[in-house]
Amino acid sequence: MKIGFIGLGIMGKPMVRNLLKAGHELIVYDVVESNMDEVVKDGAKAASSSKDAAARCGLVITMLPNSPHVKSVVLGAEGVLEGAAPGTILVDMSSIAPLASQEICRECAKKGVRMIDAPVSGGEPKAVDGTLSIMAGGDKEVFDQVYDVLMTMGASAVHCGDIGAGNTTKLANQVIVALNIAAVSEAFMLSTRAGVDPLKVFEAIKGGLAGSTVMNAKVPMITDGNFKPGFKIDLHIKDLGNALETGHGVGAPLPLTSQVMEMMQNLHADGLGENDHSAIARYYEKLTGTEIRV
Ligand code: NAD
Repeated sequence: MKIGFIGLGIMGKPMVRNLLKAGHELIVYDVVESNMDEVVKDGAKAASSSKDAAARCGLVITMLPNSPHVKSVVLGAEGVLEGAAPGTILVDMSSIAPLASQEICRECAKKGVRMIDAPVSGGEPKAVDGTLSIMAGGDKEVFDQVYDVLMTMGASAVHCGDIGAGNTTKLANQVIVALNIAAVSEAFMLSTRAGVDPLKVFEAIKGGLAGSTVMNAKVPMITDGNFKPGFKIDLHIKDLGNALETGHGVGAPLPLTSQVMEMMQNLHADGLGENDHSAIARYYEKLTGTEIRV
């Protein structure tokens, strides 16, 4: 299948590579030309704009930072809707606000373009392996049409409901991940200050009820002092901002989320926004003047 792919960052590049490996023809676009060069050498073809990519493909995938970027790429000048023929399918795999997905979908429908939101969880390693967890919202018939393509990039793809339901599910995921990293950081600071080797704590508790995918992925990074992203603090701030706004809009207070949001804001203000979100541990390290290291 001929697929347009827009947004070739940490996640977009490996996703494109997996689509290429599966035999699809890829027409790619990113505002950063060097990002395009990296996948063009793997067999993708470069487009001159989002409009150009959409004009050349019946299926367009976007993997962009946040709602304003998706709005501009889809609805803006030289955007997807300027190029797409009626019947084109747009799969937005970015993590954005559910209300933005609904607004963009309405604009797409006016041009006969059918859109689903399909954000992902799993981060760069799972994007590379093609084992992302994909959570989708929108017309089930459209989801079924693109299911095989989604499964080229993911280990699972679940249709969660109407347009925006994918991003609502993703917000729930991001709240759990952020709070889990904060809980792990707080607990490991406690045991480090009390003089117990963090690797012993990890070994002892990872198989019990406190164990989690987050603990397994992030504790080795924290104890190595390796905060290379991965998933950046600044992107998680974006997700928690969308979660708080959505929660307030639907009458769901998020007291713990707002606390972790302030920890991340503090790290951002300290110039650590480009660190991996495991750097929440550094917030606790600043509080105590103690590093969680081996
Ligand atoms: P990134 O910042 O690495 O990549 C975004 C890409 O979009 C960049 O290459 C940028 O140049 C491009 N871009 C921005 N504006 C554009 C425009 N107007 N036209 C064309 N290209 C444009 O981000 P990422 O880590 O790849 O994340 C992408 C999305 O996936 C985000 O919504 C993020 O929250 C989500 N996500 C990321 C991870 C992760 O671990 N990195 C995991 C799950 C979900």
